Amino acid sequence: MRTTGRDAQRNNIMAAKAVAEAVRSTLGPRGMDKMLVDDLGDIVITNDGATIVEEMNVEHPAAKMVIEVAKTQDDEVGDGTTTAVVLTGELLAKAENLLDQGIHPTIIARGYRMAAKKAQEVLAGVGKKVTIGDSKLLQKIAETAMTGKGAEAAKELLSKLSVQAIQQVAEKDGGKISVDLDNIQVEKKQGGLTTDSELIQGIIIDKERVHAGMPKKVERAKIALLDAAIEIKETETDAEISITSPEQLQAFVQQEENMLKEMVDQITATGANVLFCQKGIDDLAQHFLNKAGIFAVRRVKKSDMEKMSKATGARVLTNLKDMDKSDLGTAQIVEEVKISGDEMVFVRGCKNPKAVSLLIRGGTEHVIDEIERAMNDALGGVGAAVEIGLIVPGGGAPEMAVAQNLRKYADTVGGREQLAVNAFSDALEIIPRTLAESAGMDSIDTLVKLRSKHEAKNGSLFGVFVDKAKVEDLWGKGVVEPLKIKTQAIQSASEATELILRIDDVIASHKSGGPPGMPPGGGMPPGMEGMM
Ligand code: ADP
Ligand code: MG
Repeated sequence: MRTTGRDAQRNNIMAAKAVAEAVRSTLGPRGMDKMLVDDLGDIVITNDGATIVEEMNVEHPAAKMVIEVAKTQDDEVGDGTTTAVVLTGELLAKAENLLDQGIHPTIIARGYRMAAKKAQEVLAGVGKKVTIGDSKLLQKIAETAMTGKGAEAAKELLSKLSVQAIQQVAEKDGGKISVDLDNIQVEKKQGGLTTDSELIQGIIIDKERVHAGMPKKVERAKIALLDAAIEIKETETDAEISITSPEQLQAFVQQEENMLKEMVDQITATGANVLFCQKGIDDLAQHFLNKAGIFAVRRVKKSDMEKMSKATGARVLTNLKDMDKSDLGTAQIVEEVKISGDEMVFVRGCKNPKAVSLLIRGGTEHVIDEIERAMNDALGGVGAAVEIGLIVPGGGAPEMAVAQNLRKYADTVGGREQLAVNAFSDALEIIPRTLAESAGMDSIDTLVKLRSKHEAKNGSLFGVFVDKAKVEDLWGKGVVEPLKIKTQAIQSASEATELILRIDDVIASHKSGGPPGMPPGGGMPPGMEGMM
């Protein structure tokens, strides 16, 4: 099957626009939620653009490219996915108008690329500085990221926790700050109130200690991390051994017991009072550990072991024989706590941990999942702000500033590309326009007002203040976002748009992994009709 020329282009644009349209109404603090239902009837209720497009059952190749935009945004920044997708849809819609006027797609693509480059310059100019120590301002970023995400009730606490978490794991290398979000463990536990959520200067392990006789709580913990089983492997005993007398059996059992005892002794000799083992621990070894008063947990996830190492300073050892006092890590408290009926182990009070945990609580599974997503947006937003050190007001203010500047730039471009630059500029206004609509404002009036504000000096801070349904200086209102959300969204959106525009031939090929016989175009892909 094959579609060519304008047909292929139309199909691609239509499919990509459909994805954007599906998430558009979720944009901003007044955005609506979507309920996603899969074949098995499982439900996800969310306001998160990345989640929606990820869960959408999309087959169309061009639609998939838009989903890639969301994924890139999520990976690179962790927030701003809806913005990136909506922008892609609108860039394509405006391009379609130009195609209708007979402008060649390569001209449009070139104009868009020029506009996107200029947009980056403008954005760099409107960014304001933020430092890692400025907790208040960082908290505002977290709050902006979380608004309208079902985390509203505990927004203040959750934003504070996310800022503390980022500040704790941020690493300074020379003058550069880097944040690896993998060092923040987000653990969900249903039950309790959202306001019971907490930041642990350490790690939470969703496991229980191996023996009920072990202490439930160890203070001034000296922690050993072992990535090896405390068991006797088959190969270590002689499989051919033939036992002919009870004495022999006794000796054999004794030998095994001695070996396990020796292994445990190696741990006790280091002075450790807590052991986290990535592999199994033999029953008998558990007994010895218990007798030695050691708090032990087995089959801990590899990723948790790594985080624990970063939090406590312990080294993960693969061989028990190497274990030495200097390999141990420390924590104020290691304790097993029952939370909503399940045992969890908390490693708390680590000294300057480079990995921390956020324990998220909430009434129901749906609530807690949505809070987790909001929290991930907040962590991504604060992380990006700290790394780049530049932030901008929200509410469509930076998009408006870029649009305004692009119009001036278009005049200097000339030729047909000028039309494309202007179209790019118009497309950016989809962000403030959508925010205005979500607040019940008249979108045309709002845009007119915004344009005139942005003409004035210091007008670049004005955007749509959704809370009051007014055009306001959003910087003054404390609605701030990391610059990177905008630079990344504009870059990914324009790249995807260019790519889609350049396609004039869609050929079904069987080799490349996709399901054979997939129609390239051919109307709305299955699973998308219900989203509109
Ligand atoms: P995204 O997935 O793009 O982050 P969101 O639903 O989080 O989508 O909406 C983000 C948009 O909402 C941004 O343009 C941001 O500036 C805007 N926004 C957030 N809070 C406010 C607010 N109080 N007033 C106006 N705009 C806001
Ligand atoms: Mg967001």
